[in-house]
Amino acid sequence: MSDDPHAVPDVSRHGSWREHRAPDIELGSDHALWFIGWRPERDLNPQYDGIPDVPRFGANVEHLKPDGRLCMACIHFDTPEVRAVEEASKRQSEKLGFQYHEYPRWQVHSWEPLTISPSLLCSCGDHGFIREGKWVKA
Ligand SMILES: [Zn+2]
Repeated sequence: MSDDPHAVPDVSRHGSWREHRAPDIELGSDHALWFIGWRPERDLNPQYDGIPDVPRFGANVEHLKPDGRLCMACIHFDTPEVRAVEEASKRQSEKLGFQYHEYPRWQVHSWEPLTISPSLLCSCGDHGFIREGKWVKA
């Protein structure tokens, strides 16, 4: 297991996810987490036939920057279910002649309370760990 930081792709957006629903986990230290599921439109995506929906595909992690503004990162979990989806996506990309960009994945050591590795390094410079359901500054 490595504690090397992972660069988290920037998916900042306007407004807080809190406007839509309460977080799945209040991590503390002005950080909150929402699980994101994977449920493709199956009629349009036959490449995913035989792969069940993935309720915990990844998560959005929202936090406040020192200036009080919102920032958002998105992570994917490294589970057999997520790998199966990504393998199918990669095969489809190759079939269509597109370059496939693999998204980084985080190891899940515990779902409840949530512990993942490695650390999360946001594009804004925010850096920390999610351990036992809490944000731990790096
Ligand atoms: Zn950030």
